[in-house]
Amino acid sequence: MTSTDPSEGLSPSSPPSADHAYVTLVTNTDYALGARALARSIRLTGTRADIVVLHTASVSIEALAPLAEFQCRLVETDLLPLSDAFNERHQRRNVHEKAPFTKGRKPEFHSPLDNFCKLRLWQLSEYRRCVFIDADAIVLKNIDRLFAYPEFSAAPNVYESLADFHRLNSGVFVAQPSRTTFAQMLARLDAPDAFWPRTDQTFLQTFFPDWHGLPVTMNMLQYVWFNMPDLWDWRSIGVLHFQYEKPWEKDHPRAEILQPLIDLWFAYLTGNGIPEIASLPNPACR
Ligand code: UDP
Ligand code: MN
Repeated sequence: MTSTDPSEGLSPSSPPSADHAYVTLVTNTDYALGARALARSIRLTGTRADIVVLHTASVSIEALAPLAEFQCRLVETDLLPLSDAFNERHQRRNVHEKAPFTKGRKPEFHSPLDNFCKLRLWQLSEYRRCVFIDADAIVLKNIDRLFAYPEFSAAPNVYESLADFHRLNSGVFVAQPSRTTFAQMLARLDAPDAFWPRTDQTFLQTFFPDWHGLPVTMNMLQYVWFNMPDLWDWRSIGVLHFQYEKPWEKDHPRAEILQPLIDLWFAYLTGNGIPEIASLPNPACR
């Protein structure tokens, strides 16, 4: 039986130290690496907000240790208490079979079911507002003004054409934690036969049909670099999001065309050679 007790399932390592937080999710070693680059990038913006890393017990202490450098607040949790039937429908092989990804490749270490754990952000009721950011993203300038945006705000899923504006991308969003909302979400999420082809993203768009639009610059998707180069302007980018292939992936099929972005990500991972963003050259084909 699923439980909707809102206080259940979160073990914070320390108390909050702000009333706003950037929140990310890590369920394995690969995304812990992503969170390291993200956390460094957020701290470099000079924000005073907390950085919360929601993580499952499956992530080792060694993998999480580097996050201490950026004063991350680690909050251990479980995946959501969902029904066996729900979990079966959203197994990686079933999602990929029923709703194939035709535009890019998802890495082997990506489990679609784990995505739903993002919804635990709504349990963080010690914060007035949170900005969720995927662990495969980096922040390039201060974006604290997003905390003043209403729930639910997200940028459109733009990386190919105008039609993309109909859908949101759940890699960056603004939300107001609320136990009531969390309980309502769980009930809606695991309805009989519910299938969410793009997991949390499809769910959030359905749950918040009147979502507010953030500028695309607050969640600039890496494919824009080669698909829509006219849209690229380094000076305007708040969050750079490596959707599909990850910069640290081996045998990255698009490594060549995305090399300048991959180099930038590694600079944030290591802290070595982070460039002046405004002086980076925009895509050559522009
Ligand atoms: N995530 C995770 N483990 C998984 C899948 C996802 O921790 O197995 C988290 C992580 O924060 C990741 C986010 O959920 O950035 C969404 O997945 P991803 O970024 O790979 O999806 P994409 O942006 O490519 O659609
Ligand atoms: Mn992502």
